[in-house]
Amino acid sequence: MTKHPAPDLRDELVTASRILFMKDILDGFGHVSARDPEFPDTFLISRNIAPGLVTHADFMRLDFNGIDVEDSGHRPFLERFIHASIYRQRPDVNAIVHSHTPSVLPFSISKRKSLEPVMHMSGFLSGEVPVYEVRDHGHVGCDMLIRNSDMGDELARSLGDEAVILMRGHGMTVVAPDVRLAVFRAVYTEVNARVQAMALTMGEYTALTSEEALAADETNSAQNQRTWSLWETQVQNEVTR
Ligand code: MN
Repeated sequence: MTKHPAPDLRDELVTASRILFMKDILDGFGHVSARDPEFPDTFLISRNIAPGLVTHADFMRLDFNGIDVEDSGHRPFLERFIHASIYRQRPDVNAIVHSHTPSVLPFSISKRKSLEPVMHMSGFLSGEVPVYEVRDHGHVGCDMLIRNSDMGDELARSLGDEAVILMRGHGMTVVAPDVRLAVFRAVYTEVNARVQAMALTMGEYTALTSEEALAADETNSAQNQRTWSLWETQVQNEVTR
C-alpha cells in the first residue's frame, strides 16, 4: 500500500490533538484518531507520543487488528485496539478520542450517579452513557488497559450506538462522524461532567429529557464550526485562556 491519504486529515488530527491537550481533555496520555476515507478499513493515529507534542510526521496507519499497514517503524499506542475495534463495529464512526479526563472519571466509578446531559451543549449524551466494567469481562486484577482485540471488541459492544462510553477507573472514549465533532463532544463531555458534579453538591437537580437532549444535539451539531475555529486559532497562536 503506497498511496497516502490526503495530508489535510493528518493536519486536522494535529490540531485536534493540540486542542484536546489545551482543553485538559488529554494530558501526557490519551489519543485521537480518524478513519482514513481513502482506505476506510484503516485509521490514522499518532505514534506513542504525548498529544501536545504531536506533529504531522508522527502519524501511522493501522488496520482493524491494530497492525501498522505501512511498517512505519513508529511505536504504536498500547491501547490502539480501542480505536480498531470501534471502527470495525461502527461504520458511522470516523473519529475517536480516548482520554483519562479527571472530571469525567468520578462518573466512571460512582455507584450512585451516572453521567447524563445536564446542559444543552451535551445533548449527545442522550440515552444511557454506558460504563465498561473490565471485571465483568473476566479481567480480574488486570492493569485496566485495553490491550488486545478481544478487549477492544468488548468495549465496542458496550458502547453500542452511543457517542460516549466511560471506562471504570480509567477514562472515556468518545466517537463521532468526523474529527471536529469528536473534539466538540470530548470537550463538552468534560464540561457536562463538571457542571453535573457541581450540581450534585447542591442537592437534587434537573437533567435534560431525552427529547431536549436530542433537539439540542441537532442544533449544536450545526454550530460545531464556531468552536473549532476558535480553538484552532488558539492553538495556532498558542493563546491560552
Ligand atoms: Mn487509556
